[in-house]
Parts: sequence; C-alpha cells; structure tokens
Amino acid sequence: MNKNHVCFAELPAHSDIKERYTALKKILQYLKLGKIIKQKDKVAVKTHVGDVNNTTHISPELIKLVVSKIKEFKAHPFLIETSTLYSGPRSNAIGHINLAYEHGFTYEKVGAPFIMADGLLGNAEIEVKIPGILYKSVNIARDAVLTDVLVVLSHPTGHIVTGFGACIKNLGMGLCSKKGKLQQHSSIKPSIKKKTCTFCKQCIIWCPVQAIIEKDGKAFIIEEKCIGCGECLSICKFNAVKFNWGVQSEDLQKRMAEYALGAYQNKIGKSFFINVLTDMTKECDCMNITQKPIIPDIGILASFDPVAIDQATLDLTRERNGKDIGRISYEKLNPNIQLEHAEKIGLGSRKYKLIKI
Ligand code: SF4
Ligand code: SF4
Repeated sequence: MNKNHVCFAELPAHSDIKERYTALKKILQYLKLGKIIKQKDKVAVKTHVGDVNNTTHISPELIKLVVSKIKEFKAHPFLIETSTLYSGPRSNAIGHINLAYEHGFTYEKVGAPFIMADGLLGNAEIEVKIPGILYKSVNIARDAVLTDVLVVLSHPTGHIVTGFGACIKNLGMGLCSKKGKLQQHSSIKPSIKKKTCTFCKQCIIWCPVQAIIEKDGKAFIIEEKCIGCGECLSICKFNAVKFNWGVQSEDLQKRMAEYALGAYQNKIGKSFFINVLTDMTKECDCMNITQKPIIPDIGILASFDPVAIDQATLDLTRERNGKDIGRISYEKLNPNIQLEHAEKIGLGSRKYKLIKI
C-alpha cells in the first residue's frame, strides 16, 4: 500500500461489534505491518477512552485486536493518552487511567498497559522543532515522542470549535502536553450576550475552570481564566455565548495541524492511522454526555497518511449524507481548514486513492 492510499472496509448502516471486528481484522491483514513494526519496538496505541457518560468511543475490543496484531511481531504495545486542559477526571493521570479502566481499557480486556504520555500532571513534554507557518516548535507529550511506533485510532465526530475531529485532532490535540493544549486554545475567547442571557446558570455549572461568574444578574466570562474549551458554547440553549466562529475556528484548526506535525514527524514510516466511521456524533468524545449517532455507520479506514485518511473520512460522509460529518454537525464551520493547512506544512496529502477491501 502506498503512502497516499486509504484502505476501506465497508460496514452496514447499523453495524455490530462482530462486524466491526471482522472489518478491522481485514484492514490489519491488508496493511502488511511487518514493514513498520519490528521485534522489540515500543508501539504506542493512541485512541480516546471517552469522557464520563460517553458510550460512542471506539470499543476496547477493537483496540485489543490491534494490540494482538502488534504482538505478532514480538513488539511491545501500550495504550497512551494525555491529560485534558480542563478540570474533570481526565485532567490528570490517576483520574484518566481510572476512567479508562471503567470504560473497559484494562490490561485484562485489551492486553496492554495504559500509560499517560505526559506524566502525572500533563507537563512531561518534549519541545519538538517543526517547519510550521505559525510555530517553529511545539510541546509534545514526552512518551509520544520517545516511542518507536505510533498507531492512532480515531473516532470521527463533529466538533464545537474545529467543526470536525478525527486523525489530525487525535494527533495534534491528543498527543501534546497541557502547555501545548493551552497554546492551541489561547485565541478562543467567548463572551456573553447580556441581552440574550437568561441567567439559567448552566454555563457556570459546566465551565471546567470556573471562568464564568454572575455579574449584574447575567453570566460573565473572566477572560484571563478562560481556557477556550468551548463547553459554554455547546451548553447554552439560548444562543447567548458569543464566539467569533470563523476566525477562532480557523485559528485553532491550523494550530492543531501544526501540533499534529510535531507529534508525527519523527514517526514517518513508523506509524499508521485508523479511522472508525461508526456511531458518529455531533460532539466529540471529550464531552461529558451520552450522544446518539447523527449519520449511519460507514466502515473502517486505514492509511499511512494522517491527512489522506481524514480527507477520505470527510468525502465518504459527504457522499453518503449530502454533507460531511463536520458540516452536518456545525454548518457554519469549515472543517477543510485543518486539512488544507496540514497539507501546506507537509503533514500529508489530501489527494488519495481509496482501496476497497
Ligand atoms: S447558559 Fe446561556 S443563558 Fe444560561 S447563564 Fe449561561 S450564557 Fe446565560
Ligand atoms: S470556553 Fe467557556 S466553558 Fe470553556 S473555559 Fe472558557 S468560559 Fe469556561
């Protein structure tokens, strides 16, 4: 399989775990991973275990299949994650590992240990130099840089700020340190429309860093405290949170693509990517909510190119539904920005050949 090839195992609209397992098995056989994974390699498997109440993340049973495949090469697989910027169980190693276990990502179920790549508090990092347009170096989680091989399994969804999140987001946001996450989010500054705010207090309850207070009977965001996570935008039912969608989404998408390059650039030829197009939801798996899929299942994709696989994901969801998963979720946002920028800085190619297997 060439670098810009994307292989595709189709699934029925409402696939079950057996069908997903069979599709992934076919993909893993097709990839001929012996070219990438060598004996004794330390192989990091990056996925997303889902926040509290999330039930649509990639199943541990599929991760187990990947882990078993890696072990066929006598290599050493392990699952990696990083701490979130906002408070909550995934904001430090202990809480994140406990939640991973609750969601079934235990050694007994997946056959590999779960390691936090950025340490106990999310500050174990390596500054990686990149040929970016916005950044000349980025802060990547230490153990993501130190691993020999990187496997990224992503669950494509819509996203409140970037419009769409899949492989590029999993690499760029999912494998950086807290400092890196802060750097990516730093331009996002929502504010409250006083006239529209009913002071229902939902945003105050949900803001993960207590950046929203009451002022003159309305919600008010303390700019210096806000980390730009976007949760208040999604929780407000009254459209009272103002946000410069175009500029701030564009900015975050480009920053994320540059961070993805930082996580990937010492793994060229030593990494592969899998997107699982099932249970695709409006919001990402980071949200502390249970969601229903908004489009039918499509299948499983794999590629050695992180840009090609995301482009194929957008294209397939658009072909089947009239609009891609990003546009269906957030019509105002343009999810292509992250792909265009990623291609511009050399992360991969938007041109690809889809190979049905
Ligand atoms: S959720 Fe919306 S309406 Fe409710 S307090 Fe916050 S900004 Fe105001
Ligand atoms: S974006 Fe909203 S929810 Fe997130 S930290 Fe800022 S004020 Fe709080």
